Amino acid sequence: DEVFKQAASQGTAPISFEMFPPKGELTLDTAREVAGNLCKLSPSFVSVTCSAGGSGNGAATAPIAHMITSEFDTPSVAHLTCVGRSHADIAAKIDEYRTAGVENILALRGDLPAGATEDDKPASDYAYARDLIPELVDAGFCVGAAAYPEGHIACEDLNLSVEHLKQKQDAGASFFVTQLFFDNECFYRFRELADKAGITVPITAGIMPFMGKSQISRMVFMCGASLPSPVIKILAKYENDPESLQAAGVDYAARQLCDLKEHGADGLHLYTMNRPAIAATIMERLG
Ligand code: FAD
Repeated sequence: DEVFKQAASQGTAPISFEMFPPKGELTLDTAREVAGNLCKLSPSFVSVTCSAGGSGNGAATAPIAHMITSEFDTPSVAHLTCVGRSHADIAAKIDEYRTAGVENILALRGDLPAGATEDDKPASDYAYARDLIPELVDAGFCVGAAAYPEGHIACEDLNLSVEHLKQKQDAGASFFVTQLFFDNECFYRFRELADKAGITVPITAGIMPFMGKSQISRMVFMCGASLPSPVIKILAKYENDPESLQAAGVDYAARQLCDLKEHGADGLHLYTMNRPAIAATIMERLG
């Protein structure tokens, strides 16, 4: 909360980063290197993802978030998912996060396991992220949640998606971070809808530089982001030149973020993909 309040009082947009727990045996050592290099860029906060259902490196989320704050003096946000979890599981997670020194949580339903559908979700005491939020707020955490400028992939009606967002605010979310998008106009339209629906907490705009054709198509199918024609033209132009395509992806993301800043977005969030060099280039562009 403080990050957004402070920035708003200074008329600036806080810039934050997302990283994920690196895979492998040396997760924390690798994370230290990534986090250290990201924190050198003085972000307002760094958020750390967790894999839904406790698979992968979910156990590393809280220690990495704590490392970011204690070793690199940077506010952190630990993601927490509730799909497939019982109340007892979440109580244990709350203990784990609290013991690790986490103060801020991004409360999420979580990605469904591969092959599962909205009608065939794992059994869970929490149907939606909004059901998780009050428990975390009561436990004393500052809680944020996810927002979808083009609607969530499983929700065809954007107005309904905004209603669901309002439910998260009513449940106690005090900030939102958006899903990635490639067309800023979608964000501006969504911002208007959110304002009309009574969303008053800050919405920070999440941007991911595209790195290649397969990455972008995976993203588009996972989250339903639309591809505006300038992006399609870049993909066509550099079809056989991966290096130039990456550079163009970083340039496109930088331009998106500069435009969002000019349009007074509450915050700018960069999906860093654990690549501090890309974050550094973009920060330079943002001045
Ligand atoms: P919810 O808000 O619960 O929404 C899920 C679906 O239910 C949507 O279709 C929504 O429209 C619908 N819905 C919500 N409320 C209602 C209601 N009252 N009635 C009917 N339908 C409703 N995933 C991970 O696994 N780990 C991560 O670390 C992670 N980090 C993320 C960070 C950001 C910024 C974002 C945007 C997403 C992240 N995700 C992560 C992905 C996220 O878990 C998925 O998008 C997931 O499918 C939805 O999560 P949610 O918290 O938005 O869910």
